[in-house]
Amino acid sequence: SSAVTKSTKIVLNLESLGSLPADEAGPLARYASTIQAQRHDYNGKVLSIRAEDLKSLAIIYDMSPDELTTRLIEWGVLSPGADGSIYADAD
Ligand code: C2E
Ligand code: C2E
Ligand code: C2E
Repeated sequence: SSAVTKSTKIVLNLESLGSLPADEAGPLARYASTIQAQRHDYNGKVLSIRAEDLKSLAIIYDMSPDELTTRLIEWGVLSPGADGSIYADAD
């Protein structure tokens, strides 16, 4: 079924996100900022988000969750989990 998005923890690299062009990364950056504000979690270099949030973001970007995951890896904003599972979990 899903290549990388199914049982993988999604960890955004906030430093990479901040250095991307706003026209592409803007919606993602605003989404991450909102989650940080809701959690009062402002000091991290990374932000773990819900799998459900990736689905919402895919709708915003008019892509499938897998396509968006691939894009996030290309942008360098998707860090592998501590176990590196983002790259290993290709079923
Ligand atoms: P909420 O969804 O009612 O969650 C209340 C609290 O339960 C959260 O407070 C957090 O301490 C805990 N919690 C809920 N789900 C998880 C989870 O999957 N993992 C962990 N580690 N803890 C969880 P917190 O963090 O202060 O968040 C406050 C509210 O902000 C949340 O209320 C939710 O409405 C929103 N929020 C925070 N982070 C996210 C996120 O990543 N995605 C979405 N969609 N909403 C978020
Ligand atoms: P850390 O804060 O020292 O947390 C180490 C590990 O303890 C985490 O590994 C996780 O397994 C667990 N842990 C810490 N806080 C929570 C929590 O609120 N809920 C749950 N369920 N587990 C928790 P993990 O997830 O691989 O994260 C590794 C490191 O990455 C964290 O070290 C932290 O420095 C950073 N990190 C990951 N996600 C976030 C995030 O959303 N915000 C921030 N500020 N840092 C994050
Ligand atoms: P995590 O804290 O290690 O949680 C792993 C999974 O356990 C979550 O995946 C979710 O399916 C479930 N879970 C944990 N706590 C709760 C909870 O309070 N309520 C519910 N309904 N489910 C819970 P998910 O949703 O994909 O989230 C992935 C990671 O994103 C979480 O790993 C956590 O690091 C972060 N996260 C998600 N939502 C919140 C939140 O509201 N607050 C904070 N601080 N972190 C969150």
